[in-house]
Amino acid sequence: MNHQLSASWPVVLSIAGFDPSSGAGIAADLKTFAAHGCYGVAAITALTIQNTQGVTALYPTEPTVVKDTIAALLADGHVKAIKVGMLANRANAEVVSEILESNSPLPSVLDPVFHSSNGRDLADAACQEFVREQLIKRASVITPNLVEASALTGLRVENLEAMKSAARKLVEMGARAVVVTGGHLDKAIDVLCDGSALEVFMGDRVKPENTHGTGCTFSSAIAANLALGRQLRDAVVLAKAYVTEAIRKAYVVGPGRVPLNHFYRMTQPSRLADHSAAVSEPVP
Ligand code: PLP
Repeated sequence: MNHQLSASWPVVLSIAGFDPSSGAGIAADLKTFAAHGCYGVAAITALTIQNTQGVTALYPTEPTVVKDTIAALLADGHVKAIKVGMLANRANAEVVSEILESNSPLPSVLDPVFHSSNGRDLADAACQEFVREQLIKRASVITPNLVEASALTGLRVENLEAMKSAARKLVEMGARAVVVTGGHLDKAIDVLCDGSALEVFMGDRVKPENTHGTGCTFSSAIAANLALGRQLRDAVVLAKAYVTEAIRKAYVVGPGRVPLNHFYRMTQPSRLADHSAAVSEPVP
């Protein structure tokens, strides 16, 4: 088949877990890609059982299924960037490491997801060790939050100075570029270290405070911007602005944490009532 491809909808691959409540993981990633004018494809590393109130169980995908899914998607030949999120276990992390190594010209964003906000492990100990020792070297940029930066570096990362130290240490450990995200601080501060320069991005903390899927969305927004051909610094600045607005415009969908409004830039979806006249027109 020789279909004409749309140059304006680059394909972005998410390798991550599935959150059935659609706030985090693959669903958040695909919404973020779409909101950036990218076409999202996905390889599921684990199914989770969760709702707005938290994760209660997870079921890792067979590593061969992850590997074959990614191989099939890459074989189409149009993936322009890769985002990696929850991996669950070491076998899946090893699959992803090989994929990133053999596709190294592709920009890749690794969000080292270790725990859910309600304290559930989303990566076992062997996976966390492999991410720390190997995987962080394979991605173009990694996006740990304060807890993940602490786990990766062994430092206590609780303030801006510690975020800077952690970013530098992660580069020393082999990461090509790092964004330590400080969304849990009083100000939403992010620290970017690209190996040589270090830059701090200040942002206001916006309500609602109890948001779900922020890390997934931020890393996916960076991946989408890289797929669109932007430089890393611009991709980070744009991703931060996108996440800030998506939090500001978030709406409640359950009794627990609030997912981001990934499509805040679009107008309200039209309701069935808006079309009811056309739909219910009597047949002559
Ligand atoms: N579920 C999946 C599949 C995730 O990837 C993540 C985070 O990356 C979470 C749950 C937890 O998200 P949060 O920490 O926002 O609750």
